[in-house]
Amino acid sequence: MTQVLKLWPLLTATHHYDKSLSTRNVDAGKIIQAPILAYLIETKNGRILYDVGCDYAKISDTEKAAHYYNTEYFPFGAPNMQEEQRLPHHFVRLGLTPADIDVVFLGHLHFDHAGGLCDVCGATGHQPEVHVQKDELDAAHYATKTGEEVAYFDDEVVSQSNWKIMQGEYDIVPGVRAISSPGHTPGHMSLLIELPHSSPIILAGDAADLQENISQEIAPGLCWRNQDELAVSSIRKLKQLAVETKAQLWPNHDMNFWKSLKQFPEFYH
Ligand SMILES: [Zn+2]
Repeated sequence: MTQVLKLWPLLTATHHYDKSLSTRNVDAGKIIQAPILAYLIETKNGRILYDVGCDYAKISDTEKAAHYYNTEYFPFGAPNMQEEQRLPHHFVRLGLTPADIDVVFLGHLHFDHAGGLCDVCGATGHQPEVHVQKDELDAAHYATKTGEEVAYFDDEVVSQSNWKIMQGEYDIVPGVRAISSPGHTPGHMSLLIELPHSSPIILAGDAADLQENISQEIAPGLCWRNQDELAVSSIRKLKQLAVETKAQLWPNHDMNFWKSLKQFPEFYH
């Protein structure tokens, strides 16, 4: 029996970039706008966040932005993030504060998924549990040490006492299942959410940026160590899971898809 009560998609920023960063070897030269999302899940056992968006300070502070979004590595610059898109502003509209978040589940540790941790942890002295896969943490440490993969920012990956380093698939609570979907990154995780009154939803995360990644089975542009076949097998796995569970499979950076969703503070249940 699912413990889930409600699900909210949260728009935390937007970014524009070359489409081939989302669809590997497809449509290079075409610029797209992409939402950067987090998802809030309310359950009978507490509140879970899937991803936390970007670190606002690294975008709003000109010096920090120049450092972290160095045009050598980020030719399209920093995402566009407004103060009111920070997670605490979403929480306030629901009568919540960061202290009401019990678990932060990080699907992977790229800057646009883990950077906003500072807005949820620490500010109030409250520490939610932060779940991340061991493979992902290892990759992030390696990437930041070597500079090999710039989408991992350095200080997101400092493991703290409240981090739960996980391996493989598991139920966060009954009705919220962590699904392994590596390829984009080594420890990438998607989430299967069983809603109380409607069909389940699978949050693909960056296993599938766009609908096209799912329908055409195209790997994401960024694949760890060019393991695009692994990324495609994860897309197929999620599609199969969606069939088996009669779930909707949601891509993560698809502007048109996001616009078709219920807009905050509306929710799924
Ligand atoms: Zn990513």
